[in-house]
Amino acid sequence: MKTIYLDYAATTPLDPLVLKAMLPYLKEKYGNPSSLHALGTEAKEAIDKSRSAIAKILNCSPKEIIFEASGTESINHALIGSALASQAKGRHIMTSAIEHHAVLHACGFLETQGFEVAYLPVNKQGLVDLKMLEQSIRPDTILVSIAYANNEIGAIQDIKKIASIIKKKNSETLFHADACQAAGYLELDIEALGVDLMSVNGSKIYGPKGTGFLYVKDGTALRPIMHGGEQESSRRAGTENVAGIVGLAAALKLAQVCRVSEAARLFKLQAQFIKGLLKIKGAFLNGPKTSRLPNNINVLFAGVSGGQVITALDKQGIACSTGSACTSGRIDPSHVIVALGVPYQKAGGAVRFSLGKKSSAQDISYVLRVLPKIVEKLRQK
Ligand SMILES: *Cc1c(COP(=O)(O)O)cnc(C)c1O
Repeated sequence: MKTIYLDYAATTPLDPLVLKAMLPYLKEKYGNPSSLHALGTEAKEAIDKSRSAIAKILNCSPKEIIFEASGTESINHALIGSALASQAKGRHIMTSAIEHHAVLHACGFLETQGFEVAYLPVNKQGLVDLKMLEQSIRPDTILVSIAYANNEIGAIQDIKKIASIIKKKNSETLFHADACQAAGYLELDIEALGVDLMSVNGSKIYGPKGTGFLYVKDGTALRPIMHGGEQESSRRAGTENVAGIVGLAAALKLAQVCRVSEAARLFKLQAQFIKGLLKIKGAFLNGPKTSRLPNNINVLFAGVSGGQVITALDKQGIACSTGSACTSGRIDPSHVIVALGVPYQKAGGAVRFSLGKKSSAQDISYVLRVLPKIVEKLRQK
C-alpha cells in the first residue's frame, strides 16, 4: 500500500540534493574541523561556507549564526542563554500560550531558577494579543519569545509588528522568534523582521534531523549552555556535525528558492482540502482563516478522539498527526487547541494534516473519500 504522507510539520524527508551535498562529509571528508591538517581544514571550510550561505539568506553577518544540534537546542540556547546573561537587568520573560514545548519547557526551567514568565493569550484564530503584549512589557522584561509560525495550527504571527511594539516599549528587551515552521515558507530577512534571536532547524525543511542554527544579533549577551571546547566561537561546545551543517545550509537554500512557488501550489491544495473537510458533519477548522502557513490544516471532529482518527487513517495508508508529534503519546488535548478557547472535552478531537513537496490533489481526494466514513464509524462506537 502506498503511504500518503501528510505529516510534513512533524518532519520532512531529506531532499535528494541535500543528501548529495552531505554524502562527501559522511564518507571521505571526515576530518575534525578543529584539526590543523588538510582533512580538518576541508571540514572547517565546509562549515564556513555553510555559515556564509545561511547568513546571506538571513541578510546578516556569518558570525551571527551559531550551529546547534536541533531546533530544541537552539531555542534552549536562545532562552536560557540570554536570560542568564541578562539577569542583572531583570528577570521577567514573556512568551505565548501556544508555543512549542521547547519554548514552554525552557521557560518552565527558567521559572525554577527564579525568573518570572508571562504566557500571553491568543485570540480564537491563534494570533497573539498585541494589546496585551504591549501592556505586559515592563522595565525588567529581558526577553520575549514568540513563534513566527505555529506548528499545530500554522498561525503566522506578525513578527515585524511584534518587534516594533517590543522595542518601542523597552529597547533593552530581546526578541526571539522560533522560526522552525516558518523557514520553509516565509521571509527570513533579519533586518526586515527586527528580531534579536531566531531559531531554525533542518528537519522541517527537507534537511537532516538533529540540525539547526541560532541567529544571534551582534552584541547580544548570550551564555553558552554547552560547555567544553571552543567550537562556534566558544558559544556552543562540541565537535560540529559537519555533514549536518552542510545539509542544513543546502536545505535552507533550496527552501528559500522554492518557497514562493511552493506556497502558491500548496495554498490551492489547502483550499481544496479545507473545503472538503468542512463538508464532514461536525467538522470545524482550528486556527486562523488567512494568516496561516500554506501547508497546515488543523480540523476538529466533534464527538471523536483525534488519536482514533489517526489510527484509522493509518490503516488506510494515510499518515497525519494530532498536533505536535512530541505530545502524541499523551491523551491530554493539545495546549494549543485549548488556548484557542475550544472546550477541554472537545479539544481532543483535533487532527493536523500538513502538506509538503509530494502532496497532490489526488492524495487529498483520496483522504476526503475515506475520512467521512471513518469519522461516522467512530461516532457510532
Ligand atoms: C519542530 C519544532 C521545534 C523543535 O525542533 P527539533 O529540531 O525537533 O528539536 C521547535 N519549534 C517548532 C515551532 C517546531 O516546529
